[in-house]
Amino acid sequence: MNRAHNFNAGPSILPLSVLEQAQKELLDFKGTGMSVMEMSHRSKEFEAVIGEAEADLRTLMGIPENYKVLFLQGGATLQFAMIPMNFRPAGASADYVVTGTWSKGALKEAKKLGESKVVYTGEADNFNRVPKQSELTLDPNAAYLYYTSNETIHGVEFTGEPTPPANVPLICDTSSDFISRPVDVSKYGMIYAGAQKNAGPSGVVVAAIREDLLNRIPANLPAMLDYNIQVAGGSMHNTPPTFSIYMVGLVFKWALGLGGLTEVQRRNEEKANVVYSAIDSSGGFYKGHATPESRSKMNITFRLPNEDLENQFASEAKKLNMIGLKGHRSVGGMRASVYNALPLESAKFLAEFMAEFQRKNG
Ligand SMILES: *Cc1c(COP(=O)(O)O)cnc(C)c1O
Repeated sequence: MNRAHNFNAGPSILPLSVLEQAQKELLDFKGTGMSVMEMSHRSKEFEAVIGEAEADLRTLMGIPENYKVLFLQGGATLQFAMIPMNFRPAGASADYVVTGTWSKGALKEAKKLGESKVVYTGEADNFNRVPKQSELTLDPNAAYLYYTSNETIHGVEFTGEPTPPANVPLICDTSSDFISRPVDVSKYGMIYAGAQKNAGPSGVVVAAIREDLLNRIPANLPAMLDYNIQVAGGSMHNTPPTFSIYMVGLVFKWALGLGGLTEVQRRNEEKANVVYSAIDSSGGFYKGHATPESRSKMNITFRLPNEDLENQFASEAKKLNMIGLKGHRSVGGMRASVYNALPLESAKFLAEFMAEFQRKNG
C-alpha cells in the first residue's frame, strides 16, 4: 500500500485509522451482517450511529444545550440559500463579510432572495487578507452577520470571530477549518460545515443552530429547506446520507481520541508552520498569497516566479506522490491543504521538496 501525500482541497485526506475502521466494519457492522450503507436509517443500529455522532460532536466542540445539531444535504452551497430563506425575514437585510470565493458565493445566493449588504470586501486585493473589526460597517438592524472563517481557495482565515452588533446573530461557514481548533460556539447563531474538507466524505453538512433562531423561520418553506422540519425529523425527514454520517462520527471519535481540539490545533499549527517556514526562508522564490496575519492554517496558497515553474513544481511533486498541490485557477500558483488528517511527515516532505526544487531552479 502506498498512501499519497494528499494535499487535496476537498474531498480530502481522512485519518488512516478511520479508513481502517470503516474497512473492518464494511462487511459486518457490529454483528448486523451488513455495512452501514446497507441498513435502514430507521434501524436502532443507525439511530445509535447518528446519536453518537451528535453526542461526540457536542463534546468535541462544547456545543451548548440550547443548540440543535443537524446533518443536512445539498452541501455547504445549499446553506448559502437556506440561511437567508430561514433567518432573514421578509423586508429585512443581512450583512455579509466577503473575504473570498466562498463568502462571495454565499452573498450571491442571498442577493437573489432579498436584501444583503457587503460590510467588507477584499476583492480589490484578490482576497489576500481578512478584515479587522474596525473595517466592518455593520448594520445594527441586520437579520444576521455572515462570514466564512476560512477561505479555502484564497487561503485566508480569521483567528477570532467578528463581533456583530447586539442582538444580531453571527452565522459562520466553517467548512474548511471545521474541528481544526477550539471554537466558542456560544458566540454563534449558527455555525456549519460541509464535511468533505476536514471531517469526512462529501454528502453531509454538519450544523449547530441556536434554538431561538428557529422561531424566525417562515411557514411554508419547502420541507427539505426548512430547518424546523429538519430538527423535528432528527435530520431524517428523508433518507439521510447514512454512510457519510457514520464516517464523520468516526472522525469525531478520532479527534476526541487525540485529546480534543486543543491538540488538533497544536498539530495543525505545527504542520502549517513547517510549510510557511519553507515559503518565508526562500528569499522570495516562493511568495505567499495571504498577508502573514491572515494566513490560513488549512490551505496554504503560494506562487513561484512564473507559471512554467509552477507547472513543473506540480508535476515533479506528483511524481513523488504529493497530490493536489495545483492552486485554484482564480488565485493561480500552488495550494497545499494541510487539513486535520494530514500527517506531519507529509508537511515535512513538502517543505523539503520545496527547498530542493528551489536549489535546482532558483
Ligand atoms: C468547499 C466549500 C464550500 C462548498 O461546499 P459544497 O459542499 O461543495 O457545497 C463552501 N464553503 C467553503 C468554505 C468551502 O470550502
